[in-house]
Amino acid sequence: MTDTSTTKRHYRVAIMGAGFAGLGLAIQLQRQGHTDFVVAERGDEIGGTWRDNTYPGAGCDVPSQLYSYSFALNPDWTRSFSNQPEIHRYMCEVADRFGVRDRIMLGCAVTSARWNEQTARWDVTTTQGEFTADFAVSAAGPLSSPKLPDIKGINDFQGAIFHSAAWDHEAELAGKRVAVIGTGASAIQIVPAIAPEVGRLDLYQRSAPWVLPRVGHRYTALERFAYRRIPGAQRAVRTAVYWLRESFVLWQAKFAWAAAIVQLAARAKIRWEISDPVLRAKVTPGYRLGCKRMLISNDYYPALARDNVDVITDGIAEIRAHSIVTADGTEREVDAIVLATGFRITDSPTYDMITGRDGRTLSETFDAEPITAYKGSAVANFPNVFVMMGPNSALSYTSAIFTIESQINYIVDALTTIEQRGLRTVEVRAEAQAAYNHDLQRKFDGTVWKEGGCTSWFVDENGHNATLWPDFSFKFHRMLRRFDIEAYDTTTR
Ligand SMILES: Cc1cc2nc3c(=O)[nH]c(=O)nc-3n(C[C@H](O)[C@H](O)[C@H](O)COP(=O)(O)OP(=O)(O)OC[C@H]3O[C@@H](n4cnc5c(N)ncnc54)[C@H](O)[C@@H]3O)c2cc1C
Repeated sequence: MTDTSTTKRHYRVAIMGAGFAGLGLAIQLQRQGHTDFVVAERGDEIGGTWRDNTYPGAGCDVPSQLYSYSFALNPDWTRSFSNQPEIHRYMCEVADRFGVRDRIMLGCAVTSARWNEQTARWDVTTTQGEFTADFAVSAAGPLSSPKLPDIKGINDFQGAIFHSAAWDHEAELAGKRVAVIGTGASAIQIVPAIAPEVGRLDLYQRSAPWVLPRVGHRYTALERFAYRRIPGAQRAVRTAVYWLRESFVLWQAKFAWAAAIVQLAARAKIRWEISDPVLRAKVTPGYRLGCKRMLISNDYYPALARDNVDVITDGIAEIRAHSIVTADGTEREVDAIVLATGFRITDSPTYDMITGRDGRTLSETFDAEPITAYKGSAVANFPNVFVMMGPNSALSYTSAIFTIESQINYIVDALTTIEQRGLRTVEVRAEAQAAYNHDLQRKFDGTVWKEGGCTSWFVDENGHNATLWPDFSFKFHRMLRRFDIEAYDTTTR
């Protein structure tokens, strides 16, 4: 639809981002007959996380059976934890199969989305021009903006230096002295993948992660045949894996004694895979398992135990043209630095771009008070907008696609309800948002996420957890099954 008064293109729904969230929403909108939408994607291909994270060893750490849309199971996964190229290929195939490619504007970064109270529309500015939309959906990803460390001298480094999410495939690492900064989910995949080929690898660790075994395998031809040919076989396996993962909540949030047993197993893994007592001490976390994101790997500790790998726990004081200097004054020469330093989650640049009814951006709103949203999806003062993977929607134990699909249900149901009732605007009530978050934060009491003794990206500097959903994922799904219009202020056309 075109707005003839301004000649700007107008859409019913504008979606920012074509990762799993934006792509899934586009597919479901199309399937449910909401065809007047556009997806603006800043990258030159769809895929989000799985387009950008091409580092050696990149892959998912929840089972592949859960890491696909429920409406497009993939019988062709080659292993139980898929690697990045396979996941990206799956996403591209799904986009083609459901025919949404032509709704996605690639190379189109949204630079601002501003609510216009007069027109009751979103004014959207992108690198490919301006348009308006009745509804806007941010699907810009919780882990899509790399966090670069603020280390003295970092810009003076003369060798290759890049973030894990922007791997420089031109950089020659074979035989070189390489520093990896960070020991999160990306680092523990990168280190074992590059350790055998580099000359030296210095791993700079601020705090050690808990690492559990990766219990997986390459699928046999028989398994893949069964998934493809036997009706219900793959869904049955997926269901079993889903409930197994849900059971993790029991020990993360409900029964500390059970977590202690898992922690003993993780300690045994360290003893089993590392013989050097000094290294063992360095990699043994000083907080309870589950407090930070738990990681899985069978080759991380063996990689750390290699002769050409050092784990450095003294903080970095300075980076010089060809070296890194730690707080104890030791200077180590390096040829390349990999920044496995994570992402801007609670201070996402996306929040700077979205301006609500009172003229404040999401960032300004979140700076003024603790970061909250209603059901991880809507924010008071921001009419006609939904945020996917918003505050307190991340799951630490199972697939993010489960969250995403729950939100897709909610948004599609919202749009259907709005059409049926002839509404012009919907805006979540501040009281509904506050009450929801009051109950949500109470759920963290007594859980390892709040009381596990760590600092993690789940929690901000004030101890407010603005990231995780603190319960079973099926409860999140149930909560978003229907658009609860009673929590929203509405206006009619
Ligand atoms: C290395 C890595 C491994 C992971 N492994 C797992 C895992 O095993 N299991 C799991 O559940 N989750 C995992 N995650 C989390 C993962 O991010 C989610 O599972 C999921 O991919 C999120 O999808 P999304 O669409 O919300 O975000 P993204 O995949 O980040 O997609 C967001 C899209 O928005 C685009 N975008 C951002 N800003 C703009 C803008 N201004 N204008 C236009 N477009 C914009 C981006 O380019 C991107 O394409 C992992 C994340 C990383 C980084």
